[in-house]
Amino acid sequence: MTCVLVVDDNAMNLELVTDVLELEGFEVVSAATGEEGVELVRQKPPDLVLMDLRMPGISGLEALEIIRADGFTTLPVVVLTASVMKGERERLLELGFDGFMQKPIDPGTFAQEVASFIKG
Ligand SMILES: [Mg+2]
Repeated sequence: MTCVLVVDDNAMNLELVTDVLELEGFEVVSAATGEEGVELVRQKPPDLVLMDLRMPGISGLEALEIIRADGFTTLPVVVLTASVMKGERERLLELGFDGFMQKPIDPGTFAQEVASFIKG
């Protein structure tokens, strides 16, 4: 079963994303902070990480940097953010994220889009 780790400090978003992905047959593990997300990757690397950017403690970008420094260089880490600043998407992809998804999510297409970021 494909395992997705969702890292987000917003409990409602975490629940929505988890429900939508589980309905589509994904196994979902969730973390409310970047620190917790990093720890979960170390314990059991998922097939993909969905990463919020702004969280208390380390940011999603800092969590990505730690995950990469830990040697998880091919693990897809996709941003899931409400941020819509111009040029933000390109900047985040340049900084090493594998994909960019925007909140609010569209439950009808979300799981399929997530799956598209997982390398065969
Ligand atoms: Mg947040």
